[in-house]
Amino acid sequence: MKKLMRIRHLPSKIPFPLVDPQLQSFLSGRIWLEDHLPFLNQTIQYHIKYKLIERQSGIQQKRCRRCHSQHLYPFFCSKCQGPCSYCLDCFNMGRISNCSQLVQWTGPKIKQSEQPKMTWNGQLTPAQQRVVNECLAMSTDYLIHAVTGAGKTEMLFPLIESSLQQGKRVCLATPRTDVVLELLPRLQQAFQKTEVQAFYGGSGHPKQYAPLVLATTHQLLRFEHTFDLILVDEADAFPYSYDKKLQYAVQKAKNEKARTIIVTATPTKKQRQLYLHNKSYSFLARRFHGADLPTPQYESLWSYERKLRKGKLPKKLAQWIQQCLQQKKPFLLFFPTIELMHIALPLIQAYDASIQAVHAKEELRKPYVQQLRDGQVSGLLTTTILERGITIANLQVAIVGAERRIFHAHALIQISGRVGRSKEMPTGQVIFYHHGITKQMDAACDEIRRLNEIGDDNG
Ligand SMILES: [Zn+2]
Ligand SMILES: [Zn+2]
Repeated sequence: MKKLMRIRHLPSKIPFPLVDPQLQSFLSGRIWLEDHLPFLNQTIQYHIKYKLIERQSGIQQKRCRRCHSQHLYPFFCSKCQGPCSYCLDCFNMGRISNCSQLVQWTGPKIKQSEQPKMTWNGQLTPAQQRVVNECLAMSTDYLIHAVTGAGKTEMLFPLIESSLQQGKRVCLATPRTDVVLELLPRLQQAFQKTEVQAFYGGSGHPKQYAPLVLATTHQLLRFEHTFDLILVDEADAFPYSYDKKLQYAVQKAKNEKARTIIVTATPTKKQRQLYLHNKSYSFLARRFHGADLPTPQYESLWSYERKLRKGKLPKKLAQWIQQCLQQKKPFLLFFPTIELMHIALPLIQAYDASIQAVHAKEELRKPYVQQLRDGQVSGLLTTTILERGITIANLQVAIVGAERRIFHAHALIQISGRVGRSKEMPTGQVIFYHHGITKQMDAACDEIRRLNEIGDDNG
């Protein structure tokens, strides 16, 4: 109980309780299992006694209090010595059962610095500035629809700054851990004088309160009623778009009057119509450097799966890889399944041993992507895990099996959007290798052509 701070502005009934600033910093805005709090039990009980912390049951009205799920699993509990049940849906964040207690901070709020300065000194293009102005002019929930390579992240900076300057707590949430890892250094660079913290599976549990939080939508389950602004990046990405629990997590993490701004290159038709109807929609159809979005090329690759399984690399694919290697252009080669990718890997490594394969469970994914960027790896084979959030100069992209169901139009647009992102090299190749053309492939190409036409006026 060292380093306690005396709070004098609480109701007189409470005889100036002492607040542990570290506990206050840790628990503000969070919802946490009491048993998992990294503080002495004596400290916790003291704060509960003086109503600085509120406890509640982990399961209420047959629902999990943290993730709202009703998927409860009955078991014999050693803690409460009887029949009990626990939530199956958020089990990997620490088991919540009937006898668990969740705690929240109800003591004095943390006062944020009111003058956090943005340290990003880049310049927005007039089109980016238009979108920022349109969004700042409104206070309702909002959709920013900006094509891949439009410079989405830079547009977020002034939106974040504006809220921080009003003493608001801001969260930038995204469904993908890879996107969190890609954004974190950029956000820290842009707000060097502000505490920025990232929460994703494997990030640990930072103890320090941060006015600016970067999190996967999944990790937002651990927060409650704390953010005044939530920016959801890539809201149409899997698994957020399909998982009600994650959408609930975003709602729960917001304050009552909070604002949500969705930013994506590929909104659903329904989203677009809804926000357009509410006049809370901005559209940016031009990339920041002004060049067109690269249009995919179709190349037939008949019976590619059978050939690969026989240990043969289809000729066209081999030529494309050799061409990338000769021209020293980094490449991403997308596969529909992990299995097929691993069958192809040794056949492709025969051309260059540095080539690697990455997927959702590959722990070396992050270093491999960095090595590709640094030129130590010539190319990567990947699943859709790298369809978004990745920016590498002069990247070339091809998809093996573009006709497969996993490559729906949005995924194809995002994958194509990895190419030509830098000002110095605004073009590049996108090839859809296929065993038959699908409606989704045509829909993606039509949309890219449409955006390029609109971009001439809109950008
Ligand atoms: Zn749960
Ligand atoms: Zn129990």
